[in-house]
Amino acid sequence: MKLWGWMLAVPLLLLVNIAAQQTPDPVQPTSAQPAATQPATVQPVSTTPGLALAQTAPKTPVSIDQVVDQIIEREHALITFLKNRTPLVETYLQNLTPDVKLGAAPKEDHYFLGRLDMAETIDRRDYLTKQTSFQKNLMGGVTKLFRIQYQPMGFSWMVFADRQNFDRGHYDFHYTHREFLGEVRCLVFDVQPKKGAGKGMFEGRIWVDDQDYNIVRLNGTYVPRPKNAFFFHMDSWRLNLVPGYWVPAYIYSEEGDFSYGSHDKLAFKAQSRIWGYDLIKNTREDELTQLKVDAVKDESAVAQDASPLEAQRQWQQQAEDNVVERLQEAGLLAPPGEVDKILQTVITNMEITNNIDLPRPVRARGMLTSPLETFSVGNTIVISRGLVDTLPDEASLAAILSHELAHIVLGHNLGSKYAFNDRMLFSDESTYQNLGFRHNPEEETAADAKAIELLKNSPYAQKLGSGGLYLKQLSARAPVLAALLTPHLGNGFTDGKGQVNRLAALMTSAPTLEDSKLDQIAALPLGGRIKLDPWGDHVEMVKAAPVAITSVRDKMPFEVTPFFPRLTRLGSAAAVADATSAQNGAK
Ligand SMILES: [Zn+2]
Repeated sequence: MKLWGWMLAVPLLLLVNIAAQQTPDPVQPTSAQPAATQPATVQPVSTTPGLALAQTAPKTPVSIDQVVDQIIEREHALITFLKNRTPLVETYLQNLTPDVKLGAAPKEDHYFLGRLDMAETIDRRDYLTKQTSFQKNLMGGVTKLFRIQYQPMGFSWMVFADRQNFDRGHYDFHYTHREFLGEVRCLVFDVQPKKGAGKGMFEGRIWVDDQDYNIVRLNGTYVPRPKNAFFFHMDSWRLNLVPGYWVPAYIYSEEGDFSYGSHDKLAFKAQSRIWGYDLIKNTREDELTQLKVDAVKDESAVAQDASPLEAQRQWQQQAEDNVVERLQEAGLLAPPGEVDKILQTVITNMEITNNIDLPRPVRARGMLTSPLETFSVGNTIVISRGLVDTLPDEASLAAILSHELAHIVLGHNLGSKYAFNDRMLFSDESTYQNLGFRHNPEEETAADAKAIELLKNSPYAQKLGSGGLYLKQLSARAPVLAALLTPHLGNGFTDGKGQVNRLAALMTSAPTLEDSKLDQIAALPLGGRIKLDPWGDHVEMVKAAPVAITSVRDKMPFEVTPFFPRLTRLGSAAAVADATSAQNGAK
């Protein structure tokens, strides 16, 4: 240690101090007490067989150069680690227009959902169209919209700083300072391409954790800017969900300048979310072995043939199970968990007060996507993440769920054709072409009427105004949010012409929508409620304290905002607490 201690530049002394604090003292005085125990067993996040969890032995870098070497080494390790993964990527983009009252307001929106193949070339397959050409589908068409330059690094701009050339030969790294992101202490570096290093090079800032020097956040753009096109700016966050690796999870992009005199014509903001890293290809063989273990129950003592009605119900149950399982496998449905329990409690509240006694319990599941939609298959109600995110309170959630509960109570069962298993045999990307749960207008009207009846008999009867206000706010924004309002599996909130018609009776009786009334929160921004674990697809409720709204511009109903996740290290006390609550929720 003596060799290098005093030879270092000032910033490096900081590094050394950090390293000294992190390294356990090898000459700990002997004590009867065992060493401080690690936080109770860390639940493995991944169940993937053969997943390499070997940690590289932490090295103590002795110079900035060695830290940079370690950063580069870790980034390449991440690229290798993820190369067999095919996560989903969703981008939701709102074009903005100046607004006297709101500053910038959405004027139209776009939605893209695809699957990334993270092998050599980062390829993308789209869920929304049958077209699979990579070049045409990059960003699912964002490139076409804005003439955004993406060559030569393809989609990886969102995922890695530079997939091909992230090394000292191409980049200069300047240490700037250290900073906490959540509970993770980070070293911050500015990264610039060397002169003449090439086209489409990353320029910006990276945050690396101060233990293993993994990049946990990167923020910047790509240079040089090509003629007649541009790279947009992005702020990309990673989460520590597997030992030793921080995986790309959220990306926020924004362009546009509304300051006086600005000539910037293009303005948008977009959120991208990546999830489904741990969706395992070819899981069917695993399921077979599992079936042998737990599906064999001898019920012969009481066995009877099913009556026609029982057979019908079993058939519907089979269809329901098929669909739920298939959607989860395709990365569109979260595994059962804490959020479902909350949804189910609200449903049960309505069932009890309405004396609803169904032969099978009503279940609820969360869809992982942003567009606002609900549907039901058999007795399972599915609600999208974006919808739960934007609902202001429990009463408005009850209002939305009441419509699907009404379909179930009225016996509007659609899914029974999915009891035929051949109907489950399709590629994940073609899920939206192969499944659909849309009711005809007559059933929709009947469900709305029944839903109002259920709500009026429920604990939410005195709070129906909030559901009505939510729908009013949605009506006000509907003309510019066509993509957010386009359902992919169920019925939408609009009549197809941009007019919100779901539960219209609630809107009629709701208070007036008043933008300037700061205590009237009709709808929340996207991302406000549900936290998604991109590795295992688990969802949980965000534990954020409410923030006081100080101007009409703070309301941002249905809008896209930047991400600021609270970073934690896998296995830290905070991460264990989160995992435990998610586990309890799953029981
Ligand atoms: Zn419906």
